[in-house]
Amino acid sequence: MNTTASHSSYVEVERHLVSTEERAWIRDIVSANPVWADVQLGELYVVAECTCGCRSVVLEAPEHVQNPRLIGHQGLVGEIDLNVRFDGREDVVSVLLHYAEGNLSLLEVVWYNFPEPVPRKWLELSRDYRIGD
Ligand SMILES: [Zn+2]
Repeated sequence: MNTTASHSSYVEVERHLVSTEERAWIRDIVSANPVWADVQLGELYVVAECTCGCRSVVLEAPEHVQNPRLIGHQGLVGEIDLNVRFDGREDVVSVLLHYAEGNLSLLEVVWYNFPEPVPRKWLELSRDYRIGD
């Protein structure tokens, strides 16, 4: 499992489909990366969540490898930096999509106000994409 120093307390949860918002983040990051853009993802399930309040979720490894070109590798598919407004202040929430062994493995949500929980809702002002290696 891929974690950072700032949050690493993942607990198993009942297997469930990713949310509409998570699905949209994943789709946008995947389609921005040429190594992933043509991959058929199918249904994606969450099997664990971070307990620190950051909204990071662990994705279930599917029956068939999503991106066989990347078996034996792990890294970052890409990242979205969301410039957001909530509670009358502006902030940046980063969403990072990791892979391991050719499968999407972790959707990590990070912000600089850790350990304050990441808000559930905000107004998105703009976003910047970065693709992984
Ligand atoms: Zn966390």
